[in-house]
Amino acid sequence: MKSGQLLPTTIAGSLPKPFWLAEPEKLWSAWRHEGAALDAAKQDAALLWLKEQEDAGIDIVTDGEQFRIHFVHGFLEHVGGIDWNRKTKMGIRDNRYVVEVPTVTGPLSRRRAVHAAEARFMRAHTHHGLKFTLPGPMTICDTIADAHYGRRADMAMAFAEILNEEARELEAQGVDVIQFDEPAFNVFMRDVKDWGIAALERAAEGLNCRTAVHICYGYGIEANLKWKETLGSEWRQYEETFPAINASRIQQVSLECAGSHVPISLISLLPDKEILVGAIDVATRRVETPEQVADTIRTALRHADAARIQPCTNCGMAPLPRDVARGKLAALGAGAALMRTELKSR
Ligand code: ZN
Repeated sequence: MKSGQLLPTTIAGSLPKPFWLAEPEKLWSAWRHEGAALDAAKQDAALLWLKEQEDAGIDIVTDGEQFRIHFVHGFLEHVGGIDWNRKTKMGIRDNRYVVEVPTVTGPLSRRRAVHAAEARFMRAHTHHGLKFTLPGPMTICDTIADAHYGRRADMAMAFAEILNEEARELEAQGVDVIQFDEPAFNVFMRDVKDWGIAALERAAEGLNCRTAVHICYGYGIEANLKWKETLGSEWRQYEETFPAINASRIQQVSLECAGSHVPISLISLLPDKEILVGAIDVATRRVETPEQVADTIRTALRHADAARIQPCTNCGMAPLPRDVARGKLAALGAGAALMRTELKSR
């Protein structure tokens, strides 16, 4: 992993699937191939995005989630104790959307390594820092029904244990950063403090690589845009959870800043963390200019020193057109470069 880079850039996770892998500009669209052809198509897509990220100046790259359809179900598919035929209607993220979810009907277990081969493939093809994303235990519990554990906190701890097995295996493949995605942290703020962080720390236990938590306001899809309208002129969800997160053993926090109503000053509540500053708005197809990205970073620098800041995207870019995502990656890389030059001349 390249070290010593000031303001190293990274992305929150997902990137659009190429048209030949799955229907584009749609979340969770089905694969267009099967078997060996599908495996090859996923690898090709991951390589393509690896090149795009490196060309754009992204320092810590990801597989863009080209190997999975859904950021939660991609992991759950290989977990025992879940009945996929027993669907339960559930209003997830506090009833923001109603979906049919599978049901936990017995003790959870990880039947086999889920993403290790993908991490190995990525590691073989890049010398950049490599990040791998996993769903966080609280968000998993908000995306699946429980007919076994009885308490969400207990089910979360069971998921945390198998996530930890998976994370250790990813680390062994040479992954530099393991990020747990916890959009539910912006919805159930009391639970975050009661058991969400404990479950997250259990998932990250014993890891020697960097650990991150990504807490966002979701993809730029209709249901999320409507929800955001109800949050008022200042989004202060982070204010409730950041002090507890700062006290946790998780090292990095990825948050949404650009184009949102989040007061960036809230990052001052994370004095002991590396902060992945969301400088790319994924809820719009308008591509930021490098100056706009630099502006967001500049604002963040008023509340945290440069050594702790990593310019990032607000969230995943899976639903965006490919050329828009490519443009946003380039803007992120160029905006960070502008700020590095500015900091050197200060
Ligand atoms: Zn996100």
